[in-house]
Amino acid sequence: MKISRRVRSLKPSTTLAVTARAKELRASGVDVISFAAGEPDFVTPGPIINAAKKALDDGLTHYAPVPGDPESRRLLASKLEKVNNIPGVTAEHVVVSSGGKHSLYQLFQALIDPPAPGDDPMEVVIPTPAWVSYMPQVELAGGRVVEIETNASNDFKITPDQLNEAITPRTRIFVINSPSNPCGTMYTPDEIRLLGEVVDHAARTVAPDLTVISDELYEHIVYGGIPHYSIGSMAPIAERVITVNGLSKAYAMTGWRIGYFGGSGAFGLEVAKGVQKLQSQSTTSIPTFLMPAIHAALNECASDVDRMRHTFSQRATLMYGMISAINGLVCPKPTGAFYLFPDVSAFFGKTTPKGSNIDSALSFATALLDEAHVAVVPGEDFGAGGENCIRLTFACSDEAISSGCERIAAFVGSLS
Ligand code: PLP
Repeated sequence: MKISRRVRSLKPSTTLAVTARAKELRASGVDVISFAAGEPDFVTPGPIINAAKKALDDGLTHYAPVPGDPESRRLLASKLEKVNNIPGVTAEHVVVSSGGKHSLYQLFQALIDPPAPGDDPMEVVIPTPAWVSYMPQVELAGGRVVEIETNASNDFKITPDQLNEAITPRTRIFVINSPSNPCGTMYTPDEIRLLGEVVDHAARTVAPDLTVISDELYEHIVYGGIPHYSIGSMAPIAERVITVNGLSKAYAMTGWRIGYFGGSGAFGLEVAKGVQKLQSQSTTSIPTFLMPAIHAALNECASDVDRMRHTFSQRATLMYGMISAINGLVCPKPTGAFYLFPDVSAFFGKTTPKGSNIDSALSFATALLDEAHVAVVPGEDFGAGGENCIRLTFACSDEAISSGCERIAAFVGSLS
């Protein structure tokens, strides 16, 4: 008996080892401070919870339309049009799925053909370090990831020239994620416009089927003075951009599993219909009683989103201040999302007081957990450029941030 080659080829996550070790230490009574989470620590706003409870009481417990109820699709389309300035998005362009992750998975399935025997795979250009699931999702769809490596010295951002060089006739998708997980940085509107111009030019010359997937999950968590800008708002390329978003991060709803995407024009419609076919054969829809929760989030919770953004902004200042004061940790100032991604390679070649050798982000993170009891995510899983870095989340209290950063400073100071 055998499981499929496709599943066998999925790489195990290095992150899991650290998370499992953190759990073990906690279970044995050790006071572990965790900077490893990928989710807000806030409670989901009351109107959203009440809407879901009422929906259950009202009997919304039967099958719903595959792409979401008409009102959710209308509200989300209107949000994409009015807040993100994306032209030509209608309710029919929007599909609601079980989290942004599910939307992305289905989009890669809908846009990538596995190679015919003897052919090269379709390519997906991804600036790295990047969120961990893009690469396995692309590979599961039969595509090949082309990484554009960035580093802390340029705020982990690619240039138009780098994008231009990476696009070939085989390129099917360019993925952009701003604000970025894991980097905590953002492109300015001008920088995005320049990348959009490269896409437009490439589509007219070498890559006519080029599509952009813009992952805007952290759109509302911005605090560094750079406004969020959607590449889908650029009229010349709007029809080839699919904007992915979800309620997880902005509304503290990670466990609810609500994501969506919207495109524009005839191709956007074709993508929405294709994904609906796919989704109708797998999950059908998100739970029916969550539809009113979407309405409540969009209609009633703007002030909650602002409140959380404000708190994240203060925490970003606190953590960045403490981490950038530690000699050897190199880290761009965070402007969006809730992560810091410092380069720790200055400590490679050093030894901990207990005798562990630090020669990678993973060994740094493992020793930091074992000896200073701070859990962080080593950067290896985020692709090229990540192997020198660790990811710290500031979705936790000020006290946790202060004592965790003090422990990191003491740990780093103890290396010889
Ligand atoms: N995209 C990015 C950049 C993320 O960080 C995440 C979650 O961590 C997702 C997409 C998926 O989020 P969800 O499936 O909770 O909507």
